[in-house]
Amino acid sequence: MSIERIAVILRSSNSLKRFKAADEKSKFRPYFKSYGAMLNVAHSYACRHRYIIHPEKSVVITKQKVKTEDNLIWKLGDEPIAIAEETTHLGLLRCTRREPRQNVTHKISTARRTLYSLLNVGCHGLNGLNPKTSTKIYQVYVIPRLLSGLETMHLHKGDIEELELFHRKTLRSIQSLPMCAASAAVHLLIGLLPIEAEIHKRQLSLLYSILRSENETLMQIMNRQSNVLEYTTESFFTKVRELLERYNLPDIPSLQTNLPTKNIWKNMVKRSVSEHWTTILRADLEYKSTLKFCEKTQLQIGKTHPVWDTVDSCTLDVKRSIVKARMLTGLYPPGRFVRGQDVVDLCPLCKLEKEDICHIIGRCSETLPIRSEYIQELRALLDTQLGLSFWTEKFLNITSQESLVKLVLDSSFFIPCRVGKKYRDLRHRVESITRKLCHRLHLHRTNKLQMATSAVN
Ligand SMILES: [Zn+2]
Repeated sequence: MSIERIAVILRSSNSLKRFKAADEKSKFRPYFKSYGAMLNVAHSYACRHRYIIHPEKSVVITKQKVKTEDNLIWKLGDEPIAIAEETTHLGLLRCTRREPRQNVTHKISTARRTLYSLLNVGCHGLNGLNPKTSTKIYQVYVIPRLLSGLETMHLHKGDIEELELFHRKTLRSIQSLPMCAASAAVHLLIGLLPIEAEIHKRQLSLLYSILRSENETLMQIMNRQSNVLEYTTESFFTKVRELLERYNLPDIPSLQTNLPTKNIWKNMVKRSVSEHWTTILRADLEYKSTLKFCEKTQLQIGKTHPVWDTVDSCTLDVKRSIVKARMLTGLYPPGRFVRGQDVVDLCPLCKLEKEDICHIIGRCSETLPIRSEYIQELRALLDTQLGLSFWTEKFLNITSQESLVKLVLDSSFFIPCRVGKKYRDLRHRVESITRKLCHRLHLHRTNKLQMATSAVN
């Protein structure tokens, strides 16, 4: 004899209009008006099929307290069922009030614990695995725990923002970017979707499962709700109807008549969602002055930017890439942004010009020997691979200094991301040289400042 547990959730109004018995909802509703009778039927069904509904774990949750029902005792057989404030059912919290918010808080807590358990494998940004690998681990182990079951709930804007904060903070930590880094850059450099889009993908996947199922009751509910209800309602089907429109996917009637295979549907959803969010995030970056030296047309959801894509799995290379990523996102030198204001001081090394990124990489006289060494190496490489004219045309004219800074910070300005193997290898080598250059400039600057500070003290 087996022991089963049933979570009975009541959503009561004055006339107790709606009832959700999480396990047997659709089965009972058409036949019974009395909820007490439903429980009796559930009990007798369990007895007939020789299993026991757990008498202690089964609880009643009333969504809205009603005075006339205060003294009501719910019974399963002869045993009364406790009335509880919250319980867990199918991995989700079912509560009397603020159910989405409580679930979001609970999920974030679970995801954070999972993330901490991954610290031992090096998934923590600085001194850890390279950000691309860390992100993959985060995507595989943490995001599913963060979002499990949430696709079935009606989340409010505040709930999604809570999830988004956790997601962005994690991505910033993995990439070792400070809090003032542009949110869109945090997503696009590593190629990961915002959490809202991840929820949308799961909702569209659930819709596909419903469409594939042969459950008549579900189909009737879907047809009625998707055709009749307004967009403002909290129904799952009105939500997915809106998502299908937003991502330019076929509507529900079209999918019912011509349902693609699961793989085709997954690819369609993935492509549409990625394109939609790439456009939104790129538009967000368009006017960010800090990202002047980042080639925005090459940024794309699902693709990792060369600054992370070409990093080897050694600690030194990760450290080098972090310095370069900060320069690329306009967040170098450290402490440049004070209370959101961009403060550019005189260069502490040469004290001749303001210390912006063009000065640090292209002009500072104090770092000339370091710069010359790596630029010569870079030129020799490009001359060999792209011909002598490439360097002359691109970097030996009036605006060459800014072009050179662009090449150092983001090679995709000159070597596009989606070309053949030859260019992939070249990009890898260019990124390796420029990463070393940025790191050497950073070390030189830090050492000089430390020496100056100790001399004063
Ligand atoms: Zn200088």
